[in-house]
Amino acid sequence: MPDNVVNASGYIRFIKCKIQPILSDSEILAICAKIESGRLKPSIKTHREHVRHVTTIVEEKQRPADVNSCPKCGKPMMLKTARRGPNQGKQFWGCSGFPRCKMFSQKL
Ligand SMILES: [Zn+2]
Repeated sequence: MPDNVVNASGYIRFIKCKIQPILSDSEILAICAKIESGRLKPSIKTHREHVRHVTTIVEEKQRPADVNSCPKCGKPMMLKTARRGPNQGKQFWGCSGFPRCKMFSQKL
């Protein structure tokens, strides 16, 4: 977790470690209004959805690099060999969703 993500009262320690003012009063008001307007209803349902969302992000980050999936459509990327063009014979990662998805990247 980043050090600005804390549980329970951990935020007090985080706030107190900031000595220099970072935002002006008007910036604070604008940010508070933005948070209020975009905030989801505090409920068990919202909490569950948040936990599920964060769990998904953590799983994405922990997934080993050799089962890389397409950043565009999520299908697995496959090692392919260029059959024609200036890179003929060279290997590259292409989306297994080809030709519907044309995502590819250079082999690293
Ligand atoms: Zn794809």
